[in-house]
Amino acid sequence: MDITSTEYMYSELGISKEILELGQKTEAELKERFLEFDRTAEYNQLKVIRAMQENRVNEGCFQYASGYGYNDQGRDTLEAVYASAFHTEAALVRPQITCGTHALALALSANLRPGDELLSPAGKPYDTLEEVIGIRPSNGSLAEYGITYRQVELLDNGYFDYPAIEKALNEKTKLVTIQRSKGYQTRPSYSVAEIGELISFIKQRRPDVICMVDNCYGEFVERLEPSDVGADMIVGSLIKNPGGGLAPIGGYIAGKENLIENCACRLTSPGLGREVGASLGVMQSFYQGFFLAPTVVCGALKGAVFAANIYEKLGYPVIPSGREERHDIIQAVTLGSPEGVIAFCKGIQSAAPVDSYVSPEPWAMPGYDSDVIMAAGAFVQGSSIELSADGPIKPPYAVYFQGGLTWAHARFGILKSLQSMVDAGVVNLEKIRSLL
Ligand SMILES: *Cc1c(COP(=O)(O)O)cnc(C)c1O
Repeated sequence: MDITSTEYMYSELGISKEILELGQKTEAELKERFLEFDRTAEYNQLKVIRAMQENRVNEGCFQYASGYGYNDQGRDTLEAVYASAFHTEAALVRPQITCGTHALALALSANLRPGDELLSPAGKPYDTLEEVIGIRPSNGSLAEYGITYRQVELLDNGYFDYPAIEKALNEKTKLVTIQRSKGYQTRPSYSVAEIGELISFIKQRRPDVICMVDNCYGEFVERLEPSDVGADMIVGSLIKNPGGGLAPIGGYIAGKENLIENCACRLTSPGLGREVGASLGVMQSFYQGFFLAPTVVCGALKGAVFAANIYEKLGYPVIPSGREERHDIIQAVTLGSPEGVIAFCKGIQSAAPVDSYVSPEPWAMPGYDSDVIMAAGAFVQGSSIELSADGPIKPPYAVYFQGGLTWAHARFGILKSLQSMVDAGVVNLEKIRSLL
């Protein structure tokens, strides 16, 4: 075989001819979709550059700051960049925010007081928030501080039950939390426009209620963010989309000045707020990751749509479908058996640049109520903007696939997941031949 051919490299990496052909056929059908993703990335790239220029980002922003971090110019400028890019009054962007759950817990606990009620108008929130809120009793939950919680179930079609939301809003409701991405559920992820409609509905009835959006996995997927359509706070993780794969840790909250100030006073201390919190040398990766994020998200979207189309052809239920518009970078594939989920994840792992030789196993993870298998051979531990897949080992045995710092890697990972399912006897090679 010609060693300069791409086919040669795929065969060296263990991809069979049939699977490669299925990939090539699928990719050829997706040209238009991919072009649309490229155009969105171009728009968002310009948005980020403009935000950096407006705030006069300069080399001094990348310097190491230690100790209290008073006047940490890199940190303060970066927060202004996030606020500019997301069109908010302020932002808190810190390595001291340890993950997405922490950012969300911070935004909630900083802005709710005893006697207040939190409302989720779009059904159950992300698994780890159950303990934050106290839906599952937990040490330090909002429930322990006398903050009550109400949830409005989604309609059967996965969308908002407006009459029930109207009823659930009451004089105690202080904050409404809306999750953009589906998380570990098989409901749709919501578009920015749909989130905007929900926020308008709530604001018409209760203009004083704080509307917060869990923006995890949604950043830069569309041209607008929830903060452009009325969200008072948007919250996310830097080891997902906005970190661009380079941020080694961190979370952000962007929104109204008073709400962000509350968050800062809770993160550090009353009286100290945003003034302390040294950036400890991570600033260059935060800026550069934010700069790369629109392009990285574009590659991840191509991977998600590619996976949807391949697995749809093989007869597996996929959410979103291969043709649907995208509102986040997650692709759910319902494999229907523990063996399917495990083989898929082992395939993703074996495609990784890091830890490709290890075999992931289902395990009890903190914050989750069933065993979860996670595949990630990441440069940053647990980073899910890098190619990764995870699945709770419970019916309907769906796997949630996301990320890929480059489209070429996402593509390879998906082919490897299918190869692993074939090798494990979960998918029949004859089935693949019949699709060519
Ligand atoms: C990932 C995620 C979280 C939690 O973020 P971690 O960084 O894993 O703590 C919360 N909500 C949604 C929708 C997420 O995807």
